[in-house]
Amino acid sequence: MFCASLLAVALAAPAAAEPVKLSLLHINDLDRIEESKARGGLARLMTLVNRERAAAEHSVFTHGGDSISPSLLSGFDKGAHIIDLFNEAELDLMVLGNHEFDFGAAVTRERIAEARFPVLGANAIDSTGTLIEGTLATWTREVGPYTVGFIGLTTPETPEISSAEGVTFKPLVETARGLSENLRSNGADLVVALAHTGIVEDLELVNGDSGIDILLSGHDHLEITYYNGQRAFVEAGSQGEKLMVVEVTMDTVESRGKQVFVWEPQFRIVSTAGVEPDAAMAAKVQTYLDQLSKELDVALGKSSTPLDSRRASVRGGETAIGNLIADAMRQGVNADVAITNGGGIRGDKTYDAGTSLTRRDIQSELPFGNRTVKLQVSGEQLLEALEHGVSRVEEGAGRFPSTSGLAMTWSRSAAPGERVKSVSVNGQPLEMTATYTVATNDFMAKGGDGYVIFTEAKTLVDAAAAKYMASMVMDFVAAAGEVAPKVEGRVAAVD
Ligand SMILES: [Zn+2]
Repeated sequence: MFCASLLAVALAAPAAAEPVKLSLLHINDLDRIEESKARGGLARLMTLVNRERAAAEHSVFTHGGDSISPSLLSGFDKGAHIIDLFNEAELDLMVLGNHEFDFGAAVTRERIAEARFPVLGANAIDSTGTLIEGTLATWTREVGPYTVGFIGLTTPETPEISSAEGVTFKPLVETARGLSENLRSNGADLVVALAHTGIVEDLELVNGDSGIDILLSGHDHLEITYYNGQRAFVEAGSQGEKLMVVEVTMDTVESRGKQVFVWEPQFRIVSTAGVEPDAAMAAKVQTYLDQLSKELDVALGKSSTPLDSRRASVRGGETAIGNLIADAMRQGVNADVAITNGGGIRGDKTYDAGTSLTRRDIQSELPFGNRTVKLQVSGEQLLEALEHGVSRVEEGAGRFPSTSGLAMTWSRSAAPGERVKSVSVNGQPLEMTATYTVATNDFMAKGGDGYVIFTEAKTLVDAAAAKYMASMVMDFVAAAGEVAPKVEGRVAAVD
């Protein structure tokens, strides 16, 4: 007995003096459960997480929010599948992102109840004046002799970009400061903010009086590692294509006769490219994909007019299907007009009048996973975008516009840049100095297909907040039950 207790003391004593390592395994913004181009997907990610967990002294697997929406699958189950899969992955901790509110706060609460991992939402206050049911403001983990406190924060922009009716969001820095103080007075050595916040908000948390040590963020889909000697800040891109590993070494050193806690981060960004998918997770993901496949064949509604998405049609002139897509986009973000590129419409086929449209039809027409963003432009910028749209029609360029809410005439024989002859917006002549809101896709908003003019526009709904174009069109057709899009002079060639 004597020997055993002596041994215990001998083992315990150096433990406190030895540095302890904690691996924070971070992802954010993942709504796609399957891989894409041999990267990402939960099965590959799982392999990496398991590998890191096995190698780490201590680890915490964190999710920076945005998962239950806007995937195609979430259109059927409001994101239940993703909670199930993260339960399976034994996620340690998640924070609410704006997309967690896309189906309304009641669904947010349902999903939280299904999660077997803690969900943080320190600044999200429900209509009852308390935290959203099931969420925590903070969470702590004992790591060897040290205590690590986590605070969960969500962007206060959420009510503008999602459907969080009744939920209010308290200021970030102030909330973080109060909770950091609480955590530290309750013994936390290190304070980590798990936040779904935009880059400007991230920098406020990192540079401001937030009291945090480490920020694990999301929302921007950026890959970031930052350390200024005092605070660290990371974001892991999106879709679990890479796992962000922050290895934190914690230690106690003597300074001026006092024992002082010190820590230091080391960053590793590990790609899922070339990683063997985890078999168990792959099987589970596949059952959901099979389910999705069945759901895709369900008819949404009928088109009583014929549709033509052949390549030369959508890149050469106004089409009924282009009008249908543009109408759904315009309505989806409540914009004055919509413009979308013919190159983004890919079905390359015709549909007879009376065809029942399935989700698969819409998905195959809009396969890129583009999202509908909302911009604010001047009349002059709108005209420039339309001139650009018809500038290379003779080459069959993908930029050819399908529109909603506007009607234009244009001349094929005029020189590029001088082809647009007239434009009216909702029946009124275009005013150069007026402001208009435009629904377009995130590809074009970033200057894709040469729409550089849109990069100069003010963004009202950005890609991080946006919904998928395909889902918007599906919802539009399903809500209508029957659609009858026609070529009606929206993009009318005069020669
Ligand atoms: Zn977000």
